[in-house]
Amino acid sequence: MAAFRKHIKVGDMKLFDTEMIYARAMALQSSHRKIDTNNLMSHELSPKPTSMFDDSGHMKEAKTKSTLKNALKVEVSSRHADVTASFLDGCAVMWVVSWPTGGGTVQDFLDNFRRHIQVHLQTSDVYLIFDRYNEGSIKESTRSDWDKGASRVYTLRPTARLPPQKVLLTVSSNKKQLIDLIVDDLVAHKNVLTASLVVTGNDPVPVQISRGVVTRREDMSITHEEADTMIIRQIAYVGASEVLVVADDTDVFVLLCHFVFEGDITGHVMMVSPVKGRSFIDINASVEKNRDVMGNLLAAHGVTGCDTVATYYGIGKGVALKVLRSNVHSLSNVGDINCSVEDAVQQLTRFILSCYGHPECESMAEARQKIWSTKVSRSIGGAPKLQTLPPTNETFRENVARGHLQVAIWRQAIQPNPPLMDPLNYGWSKDEGSSSLYPTIAAENVAFAPEELLKVIKCSCDSAVPCKTKRCGCYLAGMACTSFCKCEGGHGCFNQKTRECLQAETEDENM
Ligand SMILES: [Zn+2]
Ligand SMILES: [Zn+2]
Repeated sequence: MAAFRKHIKVGDMKLFDTEMIYARAMALQSSHRKIDTNNLMSHELSPKPTSMFDDSGHMKEAKTKSTLKNALKVEVSSRHADVTASFLDGCAVMWVVSWPTGGGTVQDFLDNFRRHIQVHLQTSDVYLIFDRYNEGSIKESTRSDWDKGASRVYTLRPTARLPPQKVLLTVSSNKKQLIDLIVDDLVAHKNVLTASLVVTGNDPVPVQISRGVVTRREDMSITHEEADTMIIRQIAYVGASEVLVVADDTDVFVLLCHFVFEGDITGHVMMVSPVKGRSFIDINASVEKNRDVMGNLLAAHGVTGCDTVATYYGIGKGVALKVLRSNVHSLSNVGDINCSVEDAVQQLTRFILSCYGHPECESMAEARQKIWSTKVSRSIGGAPKLQTLPPTNETFRENVARGHLQVAIWRQAIQPNPPLMDPLNYGWSKDEGSSSLYPTIAAENVAFAPEELLKVIKCSCDSAVPCKTKRCGCYLAGMACTSFCKCEGGHGCFNQKTRECLQAETEDENM
């Protein structure tokens, strides 16, 4: 697992607790000590920015992505014209094809998959597109997170017994093998396939299977990684008049809207979920209905949370859409390969501050201080939760960098290749000797808490009767010692507050 900067060093001590520093700072704040709160709140006060990362160190995921699609889509009950070309998100289809159980083989699944494709081939040409699995990519780092739950790796052969769906489809290396087998199987059945099928699998060159003839489509060679972006490229390249896209993802919906709006996709586009019985989304009608937000939709969606960009606590897609509708923000720099991360930061500071309800602030740090003091003065129960505050300028910058990269990849979806941007310059880091990436928290020289605070959040009393006098920093501050102190905040500590805490804990346990 990639090593996040999980700790702050205090002397030779490493702190891992995300809440502890903040809790200590708040305790000091309410004691008689003078702390400069501007300086205090300009730090994250946690090893990980809690507005964007969860306790295990992973980026917070956008849980309300479909809110965006639901708010913008125009649905129709049937396609009104004959489809000339269908574009299928292969990995989404994998999930809905009937999964043979009880002794079924891999070949049984391949048969079911092929039959599913044949149904589409009865009405139009089909473009079947799978995600790629490149080592050391920004997508891989999010996928390997998914892998942790079910990390069993199989060697797949057609005659082998089919492993459970979840294990097969959530582990990248299993999925990659299955994609190869699907492509081989379709090629082997070239004579039974009606109409023309173009399959884009792990190989950059798609394979066309048409009337029993198999050809490599060098002209359609493509190195994008995500099926989402490859679908866009292929629709634009093929130039069909009536297009059906079979996919479920909000990212695909947003990309289709963007490129129809920009005029790169000229045909009429419908989108339908691979799950049967769902209605059709008319992309062109959706674009017409929401012209006011179309210019900035792609950027706004990317930077408020997607697979490679953290979402901000409390800032859902609904909030982002509302701010977008206010129509005062241009996000043109975001994902423009001629713009720097700083250009993107400039536009996004205003946009995200508006999402936080503080468009009047100049910086994230200013809003953070302001929101914190408002909440402190209103709250009876003490300080607000750290994650409800906006991030600091420094950690925000890194998330903007990731957003800039992702949106740049999306903007380039009509090209055969993604932009040449090194993720290490856009909010991603890598350990020596490892190929996998992890999100950068902040530049190396950024402190997570003020020096003077770090000094007082632990004591190093080592007398025979420790922490009994004002020589103990914790005692002096009127706070209990903790596991980070020399005394470890245990029964060997004579600080009255520590004893009270221990007593309370024991009572809790006995309840
Ligand atoms: Zn002490
Ligand atoms: Zn102590």
